[in-house]
Formats: sequence, C-alpha cells, structure tokens
Amino acid sequence: MASRVVNFGAGPSALPQSVLEEAAQGLLDFNGTGIGIAEISHRSKEFTSFITTLESHIRTQLDVPPTHSILFTQGGGSAQFSAIALNLLARHRLLYPQLSDDERVLDYVVTGSWSKKAAEEARRLGGGRVNIALDSRKYSKDGKSFDNIPPHSEYAFSNDPALIYYCENETVDGVEFSHDDTAPTAFPYHLVQKGGLLPLVADYSSSFMSRPIPHLAEHAVIFAGAQKNIGPAGLTILIVRQDCIVDVDAAAKLGATPVPLTMSYKTLFDSKSLYNTPSVLAIYIAGLVLARSSELGGLKYYEELNKRKAEKVYAVVLKGEEHGILQRKVQPGSASWMNAVFTVLGDGAEQRFLEGAEKEGMKGLKGHR
Ligand code: PMP
Repeated sequence: MASRVVNFGAGPSALPQSVLEEAAQGLLDFNGTGIGIAEISHRSKEFTSFITTLESHIRTQLDVPPTHSILFTQGGGSAQFSAIALNLLARHRLLYPQLSDDERVLDYVVTGSWSKKAAEEARRLGGGRVNIALDSRKYSKDGKSFDNIPPHSEYAFSNDPALIYYCENETVDGVEFSHDDTAPTAFPYHLVQKGGLLPLVADYSSSFMSRPIPHLAEHAVIFAGAQKNIGPAGLTILIVRQDCIVDVDAAAKLGATPVPLTMSYKTLFDSKSLYNTPSVLAIYIAGLVLARSSELGGLKYYEELNKRKAEKVYAVVLKGEEHGILQRKVQPGSASWMNAVFTVLGDGAEQRFLEGAEKEGMKGLKGHR
C-alpha cells in the first residue's frame, strides 16, 4: 500500500487509518453477518441496530436534548439549503396561515459563500421573502470579501421570521463564529431570544463533531454533511427540534410550496430515517468514526486537540506574516479553527509553497479557487 500523506483537504477529508482498515473488513463481512456492508439490506436488524448506535453516539457526545430528533438523510448541505426553507416555511404557514408570501420573512445572516448560497436558494424557491439580516462584506477590509464577523449592533432581524439562518464555519472563507459568548464575534443569540420557539437554523457542515455546539438546545435545526469530519460524502445529519417536524401536506393545502417527500422532515422522522435506501456505507464509516471518538473521550477530547492544531497552524501563519511571506485573509477574532485561510505572497510563491509541501507529504493545502 502506498504510504498515506497528511491530507489537509477541507472535505472530503482525512479519516483515521484504523477506521479505514476496519471498514475494509466490513466491506467483506459486516458485523459477522457474512454479508458486506455495501451489500446488506438497510432494513436488516444488524444495520438498523447500527444506525441506532450511530444516533446515540451523536446524542451523547453532543448532548442533544430529548426535545430534538436526530435524522439522517442524503443530498448534502446543499439539499438542506432547499429542505430547510421548505420545511420551515411549511411550519410558518401552519402557524400563520393568513400571511402573504411577502409577509413571511426568512432571515439570513451572510458571512461567507455558503450562507450566501443558502439565501440564494431560499430566494429561488419563493414562498417567503428573504431578508439579509447581515452581510459581512460591508465590514470587510476591501468592502467585498467575506473576512469577518461584524459586531452585534449590525444585525437586523425581523419579527417572527420563518427562520433565522447562519453558517457557523464558512469553509471557503475561513470565517467562524466564536464559541465564547462574551466575544463580539459570537453569534448574537441574545438578539434572537425573544421568547417562544425560535426557528434558529445553523449550518455546521464543516465543524460538526469537532467540538461541542454552543446553545444547541436553542436551535430549531442544525445540519451537516458527514464528509468534512466524520465520514464519506453521502450522509447528511440533521438535529431537528420536534416542533419543526410538521405535516407539510397540511401546510400545502393552506398554500405552502409542496415539499418533496424525501426532503420532508416528517417523512424522515416517521420512517426513522429509512424512508428510502440510505447511504449505508457512509453511515457505517461515520458510525466507526464516532465509536472511536467516544473511546477517545468524545468532543472534549476533540475540542482540545483541534484547539492545539489551530494554534500551531496560526502560529506558523503569524510568523510568516512577520517575515512578509504569508498573509491571513480573515480579520482577528473571526478566523476559523477548521480552515485557516491565508495567501502566500510573491510571484509564483504559492505554487512553490504547494510543491514544497507535497515533497514533505502534505497535500490538500490549496484553497478554494
Ligand atoms: N455548507 C458548508 C459550510 C460547506 O462547507 C459545504 C461543502 N463544502 C456545504 C454547505 C455544501 O455541502 P455539500 O457539498 O454536502 O452539498
């Protein structure tokens, strides 16, 4: 076997070697069934028991309260851009049937290219009016980049919106909300906590299971694709507060946009995430990763580990800045633990940097185009 390199890819990203070796065995024989994991029925008792264990790993390690269900689906974060708008607009329609589409507001906090895409998809689907509660580009160094989390005074939330959306870690831009409530770059939970059940939605695609989620219980929906931190692409994890699992057909009768059955949270909930054939292999590998994570000490362990990793990387980038070789893209206090985005200064220097890294066995360092 060729020796494995250090893979810095943001996603799909590196998986533990021990898990890959175990998964290779599972491809031949899943849990002693004599059938490989890619060949076994998703309705077999062995697989349904495995998926239940995966769910309990997520619930335990993230401390998900009983008010929230954990659902598994496909289509990645991108499918959730659509599903979230559709399901939460259906919920809003059931709560406020008398409102016109224009009075039904979806609040989007745009701090990077992924939250921007999510807002664009909501606008494309219609059924409500998209309000950009914040666009961080206005506060950037050059007036057009996503390089910061602006101060709390700049958010403009609506009254009773169908959803309030943010992306915790913007993978491409390397911008992240602080997890320290006292930091000016923390998400302003206090501004949206106006009583009642808030439709607060967070995209955790690129940091899911890398550390605890602050204010988890206050969220309506948290979603993540598996491929950044816990497994292969093909599995999407949803943590949904039960009041957001609504009868989308009843809402459609009142005029809401019909929700495709495979995207309806109620379908996923009623079928225990097995409405149709799930991505069995991705679920299997994610299950192995989280069993390993549990043995290592769960998210407290990963929080410490990831903090150390981020500190090491940023220390090098800062040193590079002092020498005029590297330059951080993101403003201090808004930089991601997960994706450190920086520029290599000088003509052709980035290429030389990437080639040098590759010679040292480091790949996947090139950022998004
Ligand atoms: N949100 C974030 C923060 C992401 O990083 C990505 C993927 N890079 C997505 C959403 C889209 O996910 P997917 O490719 O699974 O549709």
